[in-house]
Amino acid sequence: MYYVSGELLTENGFEKGYVCVENNVIVEVGQGNPPEKPAAEGYVTPTFFNAHTHLGDAFIGEKIGNLPRDLEKLVAPPDGLKHRLLAEASDKEIIEGIRSSLGFMIKNGTFLFCDFREGGLRGLNLIKKALNGLPVSPVLLSRPSNLVYDKGELDVLLDNSEGIGLSSISDWDYDEIKKVARHTKKRRKVFALHVSERCRENIDEVLDLKPDFLVHMVYATKDDLERVKDENIPVVVCPRSNVFFNLKPNIELIREIGVALVLGTDNAMVSTPDVLEEVRWIKRRFKGFKVEELLDMVTYLPRKVFSLSTPSFVEDSKADFVVLDTKSLKPLFVSLAKGVERV
Ligand SMILES: [Zn+2]
Repeated sequence: MYYVSGELLTENGFEKGYVCVENNVIVEVGQGNPPEKPAAEGYVTPTFFNAHTHLGDAFIGEKIGNLPRDLEKLVAPPDGLKHRLLAEASDKEIIEGIRSSLGFMIKNGTFLFCDFREGGLRGLNLIKKALNGLPVSPVLLSRPSNLVYDKGELDVLLDNSEGIGLSSISDWDYDEIKKVARHTKKRRKVFALHVSERCRENIDEVLDLKPDFLVHMVYATKDDLERVKDENIPVVVCPRSNVFFNLKPNIELIREIGVALVLGTDNAMVSTPDVLEEVRWIKRRFKGFKVEELLDMVTYLPRKVFSLSTPSFVEDSKADFVVLDTKSLKPLFVSLAKGVERV
């Protein structure tokens, strides 16, 4: 049995208090100070949700030190460096890269993530192998192996994943991407894509695809974002990835318009899959954000965006939480119902 205490992050913000855990179950929740010395003290939050990753390219970061900071040269399909290296890499190399990223995420309290898998069915099977036996819950979105609609391939992908996550409308012939989107929605699966990352893209064409969420929106204008807000579509922002490519994350405007904003880390070869690092990054640069608002973007809000149940600090619930240092926002203690990790 142990206690953790401090500011508990609830759906309504921080509440001072403590929780007592026994056999990985919360057995007591109280206000004020705990009856005995806590194992850790700080911000007590639910485990984290990284809303946008590409873990398949983790091995590239380890292999090549100096990656080009040019979106077109590095990540645009089909000829970007990343896609050439993925096609040449062995299964073992890709799996080991993903596995080491997953280990890093678990250690830092991220147990949920949404991955955009490249490489068709092969890409899906590789991450499934890497996930084997690990206590993380992924939302896996796949994509066709070429930039064309192939009904048979799409059915296989949708049978084996939770939906489709594409690069951008600029990479596709619009009629083809529309067929992919229509097919995916007909099967009641998730459809998402990167939007306005390299340049401003036509928001009407994007919204006509009925996406469940959008990634980036770097070049989106106020009008574009108002349209997105009207349609109630959330946006995932990946600040460190934008900065790597000399882009300016559009965080303040997205927030001002009132679009639901969650955070992701994007390509593992560029940024470590540590979604809290995105929180720290915003906190350092944008003074207007409250800590509880930023932590909500990596805990409760992404769970709602992906229609998952939201956790709460109540008796008899599973002890899945993280205790963060209130100054550095680094994890001091990670509890996962299957076991407790001290960090
Ligand atoms: Zn991405």
